[in-house]
Amino acid sequence: MSAVCSECGEPAVQSRPSTWVSAWGPAPSWSHHDGDPLCNIPGTNHLGESTYVPCEPEFV
Ligand SMILES: [Zn+2]
Repeated sequence: MSAVCSECGEPAVQSRPSTWVSAWGPAPSWSHHDGDPLCNIPGTNHLGESTYVPCEPEFV
């Protein structure tokens, strides 16, 4: 079983995105294989504001 980004289908790795800035809130535990956060989807951030947040990985 491997993990992919549920939006773009690129391989996902269980590691903090290298480009994550702490001001954006708690870092997600998954990132694209190149270190970027997973693709953004509409969601709610750690402050309860409607915004775009990285999607969850999909296991294939
Ligand atoms: Zn993606």
